[in-house]
Amino acid sequence: MAKYPINLALPFGILLALSTAINAQSSDSEGPIVRPELMRKITESVYVIPDNFVRLVPNIGIVVGNTAILIVDTGLGIENGSRVFETIKELREDKTIYTTITHYHPEHSLGVEGIGNDAIFIASEKQNQEMQAGDRIKNQFSRQSAANRELINNAPYPIPDILYDDNYKLDLGGLTAQLTSVGPLHTEGDSIIFIEEEHVLFTGDVVMGGIMPSIDQQHSTFGSWKTAITRIAKLSPQIIVGSHGDIGNQTLIDTWDTLISEISGALLEYHASGFSKSQATKELTSVLSQKFPDWRNDRRRMGAAVESGYR
Ligand SMILES: [Zn+2]
Repeated sequence: MAKYPINLALPFGILLALSTAINAQSSDSEGPIVRPELMRKITESVYVIPDNFVRLVPNIGIVVGNTAILIVDTGLGIENGSRVFETIKELREDKTIYTTITHYHPEHSLGVEGIGNDAIFIASEKQNQEMQAGDRIKNQFSRQSAANRELINNAPYPIPDILYDDNYKLDLGGLTAQLTSVGPLHTEGDSIIFIEEEHVLFTGDVVMGGIMPSIDQQHSTFGSWKTAITRIAKLSPQIIVGSHGDIGNQTLIDTWDTLISEISGALLEYHASGFSKSQATKELTSVLSQKFPDWRNDRRRMGAAVESGYR
């Protein structure tokens, strides 16, 4: 692996500073294109292709064991999946390739078919059910731009080779990946992926650096978010890679705990004061944007939180 030119094991502070610097230059104008040239090594065996803060691009994890490689999330459409596949060719040697997703949304799942013909796709039962019923969000994303439409058009939701219920332990050779279903939170089938030996946790949209929670308004409760955050804290991860936004450390878990408490507390108050949903959404968006000025926030996210809280 030492021959790989971008294997820079950076100290964590520098890594965060770098990611901020890159974010400052990010732009949505090219559409949701994964940029493998930004790939960074974050621990001995874990690489991340950062989302560069572009909408509908996920942070993509690449975990390299002695006998197998695991790819976590794949980008929107086969073209993006192929870019990821190209990127890992130098790391691959004769290793088995596994892919998995943090949740079924198109920018996480629709690149799976681009990751070579013999990659093994692992998903949870819930993720699989959501993919099978997932045309609505595909169409919705397609309608948003010509670039999206082109990426999505020929990309079917992938069919899992391996399905798990709550937990799946994957041996990568000297490295263990623990896949755990923790939803419903952002979707019904949110999963987190823990690389035990290197204390790296991929948290999907369940914990993200610099982005406000995006809550599934129909199924999740603030209690279930709290439970999930407690579960995550128990793993004592040292590096947290959300599926969008900045890479963080353990303090990000406390920040999310605070955020969820603040949101649910504020909604109780608004409800008691007779605020309508739209008043509550407006108020919550403005309060949190003041408290977390550098964090990405919008009324759509807060509207979903209000729907969930008022339900
Ligand atoms: Zn999502």
